Amino acid sequence: MLKTVETMSNLGAIDAAHHLHPFSDMKKLNAAGTRIIQRAEGVHVFDSNGKKYLDAFAGLWCVNVGYGRREIADAVFNQINELPYYNTFFGTTTPPTTLLAQKITEHAGPKMNHVFFTNSGSEASDTWFRIARVYWKALGKPTKTKIIARKNGYHGSTVAGASLGGMKWMHEQGNLPIDGIVHINQPYWYVEGGDLSPAEFGLKVARELEEKIDELGADNVAAFVAEPIQGAGGVIVPPETYWPEISRICKEKDILLVSDEVICGFGRLGSWFGYQHFGVEPDLAPVAKGLSSGYLPIGGVLVSDRVAEVMVNQIGDFAHGYTYSGHPVCAAAALENIRIIEEEGLVERVRDDIGPYFAEAWKSLSDHEIVGEAVSVGLMAGLQLTIDKATRRRFAKPDDVGTLVRNHCVENGLIMRATGDRMLASPPLVISRGEVNEMIATLRKGLDHLRDTVKE
Ligand code: PMP
Repeated sequence: MLKTVETMSNLGAIDAAHHLHPFSDMKKLNAAGTRIIQRAEGVHVFDSNGKKYLDAFAGLWCVNVGYGRREIADAVFNQINELPYYNTFFGTTTPPTTLLAQKITEHAGPKMNHVFFTNSGSEASDTWFRIARVYWKALGKPTKTKIIARKNGYHGSTVAGASLGGMKWMHEQGNLPIDGIVHINQPYWYVEGGDLSPAEFGLKVARELEEKIDELGADNVAAFVAEPIQGAGGVIVPPETYWPEISRICKEKDILLVSDEVICGFGRLGSWFGYQHFGVEPDLAPVAKGLSSGYLPIGGVLVSDRVAEVMVNQIGDFAHGYTYSGHPVCAAAALENIRIIEEEGLVERVRDDIGPYFAEAWKSLSDHEIVGEAVSVGLMAGLQLTIDKATRRRFAKPDDVGTLVRNHCVENGLIMRATGDRMLASPPLVISRGEVNEMIATLRKGLDHLRDTVKE
């Protein structure tokens, strides 16, 4: 453990000299200095200066059960002592790996009974991408290879993950997307809905899927992928009409529906999985984050009976897998994490108690003069900043305004995230009512700060 005062005081300089951070402009970061997070408890993290922050982002949408869970530490310790590693490749498994697969499927719905393990959400994207193609090939339809995804969706940073995502600025780095992936519009009514009602707009963008399938030919399309609620894209909650229509289209055109549950899974929306909240039944569902509450890295793909039947009986060897697929220690952490979610009734708590309380508090921010909409489902929330509520006009530099509010919040002890001109929140599922109040009060001050800065 790094404890000496000397090392701690040098850590910023050491970091600047040696550590390249994800999704960061290193020149700017090195100039500004890195914040060093040293410890955490409950919904709070503490930096190396001892400053306390309310983490309204659950790390990176992942610490669902909150920090400092001794039970998970013990489960990890015990598993490392008993069996720190073994693979699942050559006809072997380990107890926690197998029990975790069973445990996940207990909550995933009657037709979702299989799991393929990965280490992350990105690897889960690469995994289902291959499964979808292999599935159709095994069924004698080798031309069904194309994947339809969405603009401003996020599915990870690996080559397939970033290609499936619809972030242009990511595609520009590394000549992406790879072949065979096309993107349709997202259900972002606030900015792209024009004069349509949200319900009309939801149907319109969902039907773009049908048009795209017809244009490409259903015989050439393997799957459609979407997050139940876009996360990194700005917590964009689709209109109610959207998901039922998407589900209808996938069924009628016979293409696989992939629900990216990396954020929405494991209680975030007040359901075990986001597809349950929206009442749809996907064929494949990548998971990660809340599966272990981030205590150790683990992800996977939930595979429906429809697809698993073909994988088991028709594919033969599926030539795919990771050294750490189903890692026993990560699986032990995930099992303990799920046990906590079950025992403390965290999914029900989000659905019936703290979720509705949070929704009301969050919604109360919509009276602020620069807030266009304040939406949330469970404990996943987005707040649109606007210069004019009536016309839904955006600030001249959308990217800067969110950052301004976010920085103000961080200075005042609240960790939030900004995506352009949307503020995002996803606190641990154990957040108390008092902590929700504190969070909303600090965010309101951040909004005041932006309003006053703009006036100046
Ligand atoms: N899918 C979604 C919806 C995500 O939000 C993320 C990560 N934010 C990923 C996939 C990728 O997961 P990871 O960062 O664990 O690779």
